[in-house]
Amino acid sequence: MSDGSPCERNPELWFASRGKDVEAAKAGCEECPLSRYNACREEGWKHEFGVFGGLSHVDRQAIDPKRWNDIRLANRRDSNARDEMIRASENLARLAGELSEDQRGVARGILATERDRVTAGQRMMSELGMNASQVASLFGVTRDSVYRWVTWERRGARAA
Ligand code: SF4
Repeated sequence: MSDGSPCERNPELWFASRGKDVEAAKAGCEECPLSRYNACREEGWKHEFGVFGGLSHVDRQAIDPKRWNDIRLANRRDSNARDEMIRASENLARLAGELSEDQRGVARGILATERDRVTAGQRMMSELGMNASQVASLFGVTRDSVYRWVTWERRGARAA
């Protein structure tokens, strides 16, 4: 649903990299008819890039370097996790013909729900009795990654 905000009408400008365009986006925020300037500023702290509430990422970096850097690192971790999942999916697809029926069942579940990547290591190990090295080899990742998946899974179970 359209809210009539300047950034919604021209989203590319609010994520521009050229200084001239960034300044134009910031000026657009100054003229924004919506009363969410402060809320947008707060929202900006969830983003590595982009102009939010009149602040660019350079502004946010200058105001609170640690807070901005934490977001940047979190984004890198998410991005690495996505890359890892894509690699894992490709490896599973490639190896599908060599898997046992049980392994294919688990693999199908993993491939059907990419976001469940984190549960993959735990399921392979607990349901199929595979060790971390075997899971790492199957997914084309390091053993450290498998241990991390298992740790995430346990953390998620505790939070549930
Ligand atoms: S203040 Fe918020 S809603 Fe308005 S243009 Fe800026 S970022 Fe968009």
